[in-house]
Amino acid sequence: MNPKESSRHGLPLLAGVLPAPTSNAITACEFNSTLETYRSFELKVSGLMQGICAPYCGVCKTPCCRVGICREAFDSPFLLAVHGAGQTFDPKSGYLGSTGCKLTTGRPPLCHAFVCGLIVRNQPSDEHRYALDCLGDLVGFIQTKVWQKRQLVEAMTMADLLNADQSVFDARLALAESAFTVLDSFFTHHHALGFRELEILNHIRKHEIAGS
Ligand code: SF4
Ligand code: SF4
Repeated sequence: MNPKESSRHGLPLLAGVLPAPTSNAITACEFNSTLETYRSFELKVSGLMQGICAPYCGVCKTPCCRVGICREAFDSPFLLAVHGAGQTFDPKSGYLGSTGCKLTTGRPPLCHAFVCGLIVRNQPSDEHRYALDCLGDLVGFIQTKVWQKRQLVEAMTMADLLNADQSVFDARLALAESAFTVLDSFFTHHHALGFRELEILNHIRKHEIAGS
């Protein structure tokens, strides 16, 4: 989604199976630390995505941003906490400014996941297209099933957020960090993906497609 212009080995062993959600709730202190971790990860993913998409988004005449999508970043207590509400939500333009998205973090997961057909078609290979899909899924992946088997963006109160499961978040983050390492190297060096790297990425895609 439009944010990409201005405003998108030694690998650790994979568990393969993520822990089921439990009552391992986050304390207020842990929540603040989780926010920092989330912001850092989102920034990394956005930076890599931006490098890939900027040549297209930077000259795009019909940006794909929509107020209805921006609204999730205004309505979700989690995303509000991530971006800190430093930017005003405009009912007409949402968070879209003259140079792109005004949010550097706390964008809805869809903003990271959506890549338009033009960008997809212009990728040099199917492997690049697959890797781009995986990259777009990472931000949504780390918050899925963390709160009552749902995404953190669906939690509507602070009390809900403090009932999120820290162990699930940590496990998903570890998996997503491994995938990011693979993707960062792939898009930097454009080497073929090896078996072990594909195995790591398949964990992300498999869980995304299964919604688990
Ligand atoms: S439509 Fe494509 S090129 Fe235009 S802003 Fe969206 S992702 Fe970028
Ligand atoms: S939050 Fe709004 S302006 Fe920002 S990337 Fe998403 S849709 Fe675009």
